[in-house]
Amino acid sequence: MTTSAELIEMSERRSAHNYHPLPVVIHEAHGAWVTDVEGKRYLDCLSGYSSLNFGHGHPKIIEAARNQLDNLTLTSRAFYHDQFAQFCAGLGDLTGKDLILPMNTGAEAVETAIKVARKWGYEVKGVEPDQANIIVMEGNFHGRTTTIVSFSTDPEAHDNFGPYTPGFRLVPYGSTEAIRQAVDPNTVAVLVEPIQGEAGVLVPPDGYLSEIRELCTAQGILMIADEVQSGLGRTGQTFACDYEGVVPDVYVLGKALGGGVVPVSAIAANRDVLGIIQPGQHGSTFGGNPLACAVGIAVIELLNTGEFQARAAKLGEVLHARLRELIGKGVVEVRGRGLWAGVDIDPELATGREVSKALMARSVLAKDTHGSTIRLAPPIVVSEEDLIWAVNQLADALYELTTA
Ligand SMILES: *Cc1c(COP(=O)(O)O)cnc(C)c1O
Repeated sequence: MTTSAELIEMSERRSAHNYHPLPVVIHEAHGAWVTDVEGKRYLDCLSGYSSLNFGHGHPKIIEAARNQLDNLTLTSRAFYHDQFAQFCAGLGDLTGKDLILPMNTGAEAVETAIKVARKWGYEVKGVEPDQANIIVMEGNFHGRTTTIVSFSTDPEAHDNFGPYTPGFRLVPYGSTEAIRQAVDPNTVAVLVEPIQGEAGVLVPPDGYLSEIRELCTAQGILMIADEVQSGLGRTGQTFACDYEGVVPDVYVLGKALGGGVVPVSAIAANRDVLGIIQPGQHGSTFGGNPLACAVGIAVIELLNTGEFQARAAKLGEVLHARLRELIGKGVVEVRGRGLWAGVDIDPELATGREVSKALMARSVLAKDTHGSTIRLAPPIVVSEEDLIWAVNQLADALYELTTA
């Protein structure tokens, strides 16, 4: 058998170093637990950046994928296939929107929303040619395409990838006043994460989303909510926007929509917005493929039970209560909603990477983001017992670092 160390060395030798993985080589996984090539088990507290909300190998999702593999995997959108209608209707009902435009990755769905907003701006709002602007937030993460990194404020994501796509206006996250000041007659959209995930699970002030909603409605601007990471049960609601009773004009979805099996993303919007796209104007060879739709249908059915949202809310209370007890014991601040937490470690004590490694040694997989923050987002199927155990591992790891 090839060991973890050998596989890591071989991986690093022949792959671009665009990630800095923890030194674990996963071989299989079920539910909330993964097993490495040496047979050591770990509790997954990252969930593929919330792509695995329903856990590894959820039986309903795997069954849907298996059945579909036997029948039909790809047609391209040149033809209809028998999974497409149900996927679009199901996601339309889940979002309350008329129309769905399926893509594959989150970044592609964000790109789709940007294109639709611009086209809507020119054709419906009457913005002057090539003058459309979109208001975006500092600290945003919307993906890695050249247009998206053009308005990233993270130097690593942004620098040396120019020339940059114009047409974006950055404002501080959490300030509706800043948005108001940035709006002009050529503003077509506000693009916002209801909770900023990669920035460290930043929850905006209460009323932020509803104020954006009001402002967009009043000014004739599209509110685009990037719910790629915050959506589909993670926060204890179907969408993080639900916490403020806010319905954006455009939902951007991805990650968990693929059930942890295949990349599936989509935007959802009403006909007055998404109806502007005509044949030939946008597309994707793989977007809305039969396997993706079959898996997506299974995911939507799981969400329609409401069980995952309720469970994330209930376990989220346990998680946040326990994490708050660690404040002053190596933890500076805890943020988040539902089964999603950003934990700021005292930077004097350790970096997020060091804490992630200490957790790994204690059989918990979590990943740092931005310096001394770690993010906890276990699959929603995690047991309460395992969740508490994981937080206890964090407490013990921090205690060890404090006394070291
Ligand atoms: C992960 C993420 C994306 C990008 O998704 P990819 O599938 O990696 O392209 C976009 N927006 C948000 C909020 C994300 O968390």
